[in-house]
Formats: sequence, structure tokens, C-alpha cells
Amino acid sequence: MDLSRLAQLCDSCGEAPPVYRQVYSGVSLCGDCFKESIEKRVRRTISRYSLLRENDRILVAVSGGKDSLSLLKILAKIERDFPRASLVAVSIDEGIPGYRDEALQLAADFCRRLGVEHRVYSFEELFGVGLNDAIGKGLLSKLGMGACTVCGVWRRKALSVAARSLKATVVATAHTLDDIVQTYLMDVLRGEFPKAAIGLRREANGIIPRVAPLRQILEEEVVLYAYLNRIPFQETPCPNAKGSQRDIVRSFLAQFEAKYPGSLFTALRVIESKIEPRSGQLLPCEICGEPSSRNICRACEFERAFSDLLSLSGELVGADVSVDDV
Ligand code: SF4
Repeated sequence: MDLSRLAQLCDSCGEAPPVYRQVYSGVSLCGDCFKESIEKRVRRTISRYSLLRENDRILVAVSGGKDSLSLLKILAKIERDFPRASLVAVSIDEGIPGYRDEALQLAADFCRRLGVEHRVYSFEELFGVGLNDAIGKGLLSKLGMGACTVCGVWRRKALSVAARSLKATVVATAHTLDDIVQTYLMDVLRGEFPKAAIGLRREANGIIPRVAPLRQILEEEVVLYAYLNRIPFQETPCPNAKGSQRDIVRSFLAQFEAKYPGSLFTALRVIESKIEPRSGQLLPCEICGEPSSRNICRACEFERAFSDLLSLSGELVGADVSVDDV
């Protein structure tokens, strides 16, 4: 951020020195007004897109990073105005020792501080093998898959399992504006136009809808929100992230947004205006019964492939799983 362009006093209260300039709107805000503006924008996003209902049981996916802990804090605040709504935080332990352990501890501590119930679901208990074990046993390389591909599909599945078992009516994820545009761009680079808007409530075929209340907030704004609120979050990136497709796209988009502020908002608006509503019916996966656009969903496909490889090598993996790859 270019501090020389900050106004002398906050444009909102006119009293305190600003800490942040929203380049895309030209407004400079002090710490308190900045925090308030983020919370207001999240409320506005929830209301504009009807993301949440007043009697929802909201599962908040909490990784222990800045985005998810900030989201939890904001939703816990909003929830106070809706006594019929409830929150439960869920962390997924992918089985990345050293990285995930610290994040799980931070998530647990922060939930305790906010008084929010916290549950952990692990790949190992759901799919029979943790991510690092699968990498170590050579399962991913034999199938030519990257860690993030398996991790992303299984994490979605794990959240679906958690949502069903905790009777959640909606799953809130902490995808920011940056994350969503990255995903759309990655779809395009892989030769596919996005088929559904990310993080907008979609009720269909027994799916527990997913919403992204931070979809209009920039990543850098979430970082500042977390710092200003003194939220302790995990700063170390996942060891598998470096060099991933998302990592490359993230770095490109961050540079582009820094040079041409407002580009991510424009990209989101333009891409989502062109998304055709998903055609074709979702059917239950033949193995797990979760709604899927394929006969066998991707999570079951991965689990079966790993199980076959382990059986061949004399080990068995065999959790009975279901999936949501839609
Ligand atoms: Fe999973 Fe990849 Fe994210 Fe690491 S970077 S947590 S492997 S999706």
C-alpha cells in the first residue's frame, strides 16, 4: 500500500489517522472505521445474495488461517442479531503434519474464545489415508495427481460429511474475492468456462448449499482485518502450495490487481454475468449417494484408486465414504 496517498484523517469519522486506502473507491479509513466497513460489506453481501437465513445452522469451515478466522469472527457477531441461527466451526485435518497441527490449535483456541463449538474431521478417518501418507507411499505420483487436486476434492467431501452429521443447513467458506477469481481463471486456463458461481446459495438435489460471505472482500483487506482485531492465525503456507497451479495464478492476479486496482471486482462481475446456469441433473454417486454430475463422484474415484494401489502393495484403505464434487 502506498502510504503517501493516505489522507491525513479518516474519510469516514474525520478523527483518527487512516490505516488503509481503498484504492478502488479512493476512501482512506482509520482502523475502527476499516473494521466496521468490512463487517458492513459482509452483511451487505449476505443480504444482497440471500446467502444466509435467520434460522440457519451454519457450518463455518475454519482452517486456522486469517480468512476463515476473520469470517468466523464476523459471522459470530452477525449471529447475535439472529437468535434462531447457530454456528458450528469445522476444521479438516488433511494429514499434513507440522503444518496442519499448528492451524488446528489456533482454530480450536479462537473458537473457544468466541464460544463457538469446534469439530475436527480428518482425511485419515474418512478416507483411510492422510495426504502426506498418500504422497509418501507414492500414490499420487503413480496416478499422476497433484496434492492440491486430491486435497481439494476430499476437503469438499469432508465438509459435506461434517455438514450432514452436524445437521448444518448451509456451509460458509472463507473464499475471498481473490480466491474466487483465481478459481474462475484456473477453470478457463484448463479449457472450461466456470459452470456455477462460487459461494452463492444454490439449493438443489439434496445439496447442502455453500456460501462465501467474503466474496466481495480483497485478500489484503482480510489480512488487515485479522491484524487489527489481533486474531492469531497461521502464517506459514502449506508446504504443498508452492508451485501449484493456484500459486502461479495467485501471484499473477495479485500483481495485476496491485497495478490496476479494481480489476478483481471487474473480473468477478464480468465472469459471473456470463455463467450459464448449470444444465443437467445431479444424480446420486453410485458409491456414496452424494449428488454428483458423474456416475461415480471424484472423491470416491480417488479413494477407490488409492485403495486398489494399496491392496496391490498389501495394505488396505477402506473407509466407506460419500462425496460432493459439485
Ligand atoms: Fe491442500 Fe494444496 Fe491447500 Fe495444501 S495447498 S492445504 S495440499 S489444497
